[in-house]
Amino acid sequence: MPFSNLGLSPTILQAISERGYTTPTPIQTAAIPEILRGNDVLAAAQTGSGKTAAFALPLLQLVQDSPTEKPRQLRTLILVPTRELAQQTAESIRALAQTAPQALKIAALFGGVSINPQMMELRGGVDIVVATPGRLLDLIEHNALSIATISSLVLDEADRLLDMGFTDEIGRILALLPKQRQNLFFSATFPPAVHALAAKMLHQPTRIAILALEQNQPAIQQRAIQVDAGRRTQLLRHLLRENTWGRVLVFVATKYAAEHIAEKLHRAGIKAAAFHGEFSQGARDEVLADFKASKVQVLVATDVAARGIDIAQLPVVLNYDLPRSAVDYTHRIGRTGRAGKSGIAISFISADTEAHFRLIEKRHNLKCEREQIAGFEPVVTAVLAGTESSTDTSNGGIKGKRKSKKDKLREAAARGETE
Ligand code: AMP
Repeated sequence: MPFSNLGLSPTILQAISERGYTTPTPIQTAAIPEILRGNDVLAAAQTGSGKTAAFALPLLQLVQDSPTEKPRQLRTLILVPTRELAQQTAESIRALAQTAPQALKIAALFGGVSINPQMMELRGGVDIVVATPGRLLDLIEHNALSIATISSLVLDEADRLLDMGFTDEIGRILALLPKQRQNLFFSATFPPAVHALAAKMLHQPTRIAILALEQNQPAIQQRAIQVDAGRRTQLLRHLLRENTWGRVLVFVATKYAAEHIAEKLHRAGIKAAAFHGEFSQGARDEVLADFKASKVQVLVATDVAARGIDIAQLPVVLNYDLPRSAVDYTHRIGRTGRAGKSGIAISFISADTEAHFRLIEKRHNLKCEREQIAGFEPVVTAVLAGTESSTDTSNGGIKGKRKSKKDKLREAAARGETE
């Protein structure tokens, strides 16, 4: 179905064609008409599905169709979990608002930077706000804006918002909003807390489920490569040499690992940089800009920092360390294969993470063939239930080693007992 059949106005259709979008993504086809009708929407959709435009396009149209008496009156509030997502979402909306007959003011409000420039920006009013919850409340407390006039509220990446501990802030924000409003709720996953929040917020929502990884992102090839933990950096260098990957986003577990691995790659002549939560906003923007401009080829990042990053051409995401949860796995691999472009998501699996990866596979109903790369075949083998005999002795052997409590838990996990 073309964009022109979704009820969008000529102004918005022009913005879409200027942006270069030709066909709506499934979430756009499903959500746009519902949002234009003023309905609440509950959508299971991941980053990369085109969800930002799915709510931005109809909301822009609703704003344009209902001019307020006073100019610059806040009508649309979009809550997001991170500053990167706030900036990117605001940028996308600004690009789509270019064709609006009356210029709209769209502000991105997020913490981690000085509040004063944001207060200045809000002077004279604003039409659309994209904000992280904590900073939004700070600004409200400073009387820099009021959210009492909004007609549409969007919760984007609701699961992330809750994961990051914004439950109380969201409750406080909801209490400040007018009762009569449209609510749009987007989440990649629906654990019980997310369900509960959706039930509390939404009024007879239209449910849109574009969830399954396989259906939603057929373009992502998921690979699992077995390698000993101590040889992962060498294997990473080998893969970078052997493949013509323009940009690679490497996920690690800690800030230290991000710095350490980026440094090692850098010393090996690879254009690599670290990216994690302790960077200042300025440093983050700079690294991201370098990555987007291909001055940096390999970004070694932690989960917190890399959440919500939208880089149009990201062919490879690599889990150097596995994500803690199946949900994080979804978010990480959703960084590639965006909007129909193909992508590869590689996970390094070593003896001690095999069981954890099996759990991730199980949650996603996924089965990745284990690969080994010549010259990097693992010598340490997992001691898993039913595979005790696979213990290799070439590394001095872990045979006979008494299983620790952790090992036993892992084995149980591998058998699905902790599910
Ligand atoms: P999102 O899921 O909102 O993060 O969007 C992922 C990427 O897809 C962004 O780079 C968008 O600019 C792009 N995109 C969104 N909608 C479309 C579309 N209909 N056609 C092509 N690209 C799109």
